[in-house]
This record gives sequence, structure tokens and C-alpha cells, in this order.
Amino acid sequence: MVKVRKIAAVGRECVACGSCENICPRGAIRVWNGLIARVDGEKCVGCGMCGKICPAAVIEIRERGEG
Ligand code: SF4
Ligand code: SF4
Repeated sequence: MVKVRKIAAVGRECVACGSCENICPRGAIRVWNGLIARVDGEKCVGCGMCGKICPAAVIEIRERGEG
């Protein structure tokens, strides 16, 4: 099994638009309580699609284990 090294991280300025949720091919990011998107670390493969579509540009793709 290939180890996934990257993960999406959502910043506090998320406007909860849901675009990331709609585009994620793994169902790994969800808007929580209508407030902020949260990433499921078990499912996210760090593909970066959510970051490209985010209108608020608050998603960063990081190395796992980083901050
Ligand atoms: S990086 Fe890819 S897999 Fe991870 S939450 Fe974003 S779209 Fe989904
Ligand atoms: S696309 Fe960006 S602003 Fe919209 S819910 Fe996802 S992280 Fe938040």
C-alpha cells in the first residue's frame, strides 16, 4: 500500500460554501455545522482539487505531520 504523505488543511477564513465538498473525489472534506470545512485524514489523499476550487483560497496542501 502506498503511504499518503499529503493532506488538505482548511484555514479559519473558510466561508462554508461547500465547493470543496462537492469536488472531492474521496468524500474527504465536509462542511461542519454550516461553519467550516473539515478534512477526514483517513480519506484525504492530498490531491489538491479542493484547494484549486476554493473561492476563498483557504485550503493548503501540506505534508502530513506539519502543523
Ligand atoms: S486534497 Fe483531494 S482528497 Fe483531500 S480533501 Fe481535497 S479534494 Fe479531497
Ligand atoms: S471551498 Fe473553501 S471556502 Fe468553500 S467550504 Fe471549502 S474550504 Fe470553505
